[in-house]
Amino acid sequence: MLEATGRKIVHMEIGEPDFDTPEHIKEAGIRAIRENYSHYTPSAGIPELRDLIANYASTFRKMPGAFTRENVVVAPGAKPVIWNTLSALLNPGDELIYADPAYPAYASCASYLQAKVTAIPLRESMDFRLDLDELERAVSNKTKVLVINTPHNPTGGVLLRSDLERIAELAQRHDFIVIADEIYSRNFYQGDFFSISQVPGMRERTIIVDGFSKAYAMTGWRLGYAIMPEDLTPAVTLFNNNTFSCVATFVQMAGIAALQGPDGDVVRMNGIFRERRDRLVGGLRAIPNVSCTIPEGAFYAFPNFSKIAHDDKALAKFFLEEAGVACLGGSAFGKAGAGYVRFSYAASLPDIDLALERLAEFAPRYGQTG
Ligand code: PMP
Repeated sequence: MLEATGRKIVHMEIGEPDFDTPEHIKEAGIRAIRENYSHYTPSAGIPELRDLIANYASTFRKMPGAFTRENVVVAPGAKPVIWNTLSALLNPGDELIYADPAYPAYASCASYLQAKVTAIPLRESMDFRLDLDELERAVSNKTKVLVINTPHNPTGGVLLRSDLERIAELAQRHDFIVIADEIYSRNFYQGDFFSISQVPGMRERTIIVDGFSKAYAMTGWRLGYAIMPEDLTPAVTLFNNNTFSCVATFVQMAGIAALQGPDGDVVRMNGIFRERRDRLVGGLRAIPNVSCTIPEGAFYAFPNFSKIAHDDKALAKFFLEEAGVACLGGSAFGKAGAGYVRFSYAASLPDIDLALERLAEFAPRYGQTG
């Protein structure tokens, strides 16, 4: 509506890359339609796509041969695969532990399934990594699933290898499953990505959630997957069968092209995100009374505005209406997000500069009358 009045709004609220899907992937989708890939596929996905995903997941996580197609279930995005996996795992009364703030789907789905949902708050002072002592205290014999998400939405935080090793030890001691949402594993800025599935003994109790949305700028295509112990695959596939049947066939063909094709676009986009991250975080830190950790992954900054505003949602509204910068109040991601704001840096450098200029001007005016 504001845009209809001719005002330029800088969009930093959306959790999707602003890039176009790479050409060779688009072409493969178009070709598949022309070649009549217009029939149902198996509910777990086209076997060739499952093979490629298994191979990619094993190679990328430095575990050659670790996974086969029997470990892979394809879905229209990572979100439905989270739902169908949790649906296959959780009975009423089982406990799911997750970190707050979080991508909302985990708690929504677990609550819908009448599971007990326990949130562990993430703290800026710990760079938004899980407090593992607190996690250990929360674990009980009802704990069935722990969800971790690294790199993390909305904070950009990353769990260290030592964190993952300790979580793995807890999972093995208390016999729970770890859902590792690694959808941002290609949006990683410091060294090599490390997955909890790489810790000895964890391949058997980890479900990796990943997909094409973020890495290949394919959010609207709807293509994601989970990699799981093979005894779980039939149950999750049955949920696929009874919900969406299968992912659109030409979309799966585009996924095959993404995994077979050159990887340069993924690397290029990540380099651009990194440059934007540095610009955005530098600018946010220069605003008086604002602090911001350095996000080591994903494409979000999660600055602390609590010295400026108590109500982060009202502050986000103010930024949109007065400064023309769209962002999300941190409490939209859970109680522990209160006082923070999420900015997605899926915006060009000139737009980020413009947003920073406006934020620096308007943040100090928040709450002033007249
Ligand atoms: N997990 C996380 C942490 C996300 O941020 C998102 C998307 N915002 C998803 C999963 C879902 O991705 P998809 O588009 O593949 O459903």
